[in-house]
Amino acid sequence: MISAPSFVVQKHRAGNLHYDFRLEIDGLLKSWVLPKGPTLDTAVKRLAVQVDDHALSYMHFEGGIKEGYGAGEVIIWDRGSYSPETDMEIGLKEGRLEFLLRGKKLQGGFILIRMDEWSGKDPIWLMMKKLDKFVTDEDITITRPSSVVSLRRID
Ligand code: MN
Repeated sequence: MISAPSFVVQKHRAGNLHYDFRLEIDGLLKSWVLPKGPTLDTAVKRLAVQVDDHALSYMHFEGGIKEGYGAGEVIIWDRGSYSPETDMEIGLKEGRLEFLLRGKKLQGGFILIRMDEWSGKDPIWLMMKKLDKFVTDEDITITRPSSVVSLRRID
């Protein structure tokens, strides 16, 4: 039996506080920076800037980055497995990814859609919650700020 792929959301206090959303696809962590973090509210769309892939092992990282433009504290804000609802390889090419997350905070269906118009190096996507029983207008970035592995906070 093949185990389900993983996802992680790392809250990162670098120059700006942001959330790094990462999905395991084909042996790598495809990565997006969410300035405002993910949401369980279907009324909200969250900006997600695609950035460099990370190694799978990075999903376990929590601690301080000493040098470089990412210098600052990182906590594992959420982590779990996910089920693709679209072919992820094709979805990356076509700019549409749908998946079910099974984290401690993020659960249920989500969609990432790449914007057609973008300038510069990093593709711009929007991350949205799909309608299901996990929807809430509670802002879980505010109500559930702690690491899911250490209970540390960096806010
Ligand atoms: Mn980051």
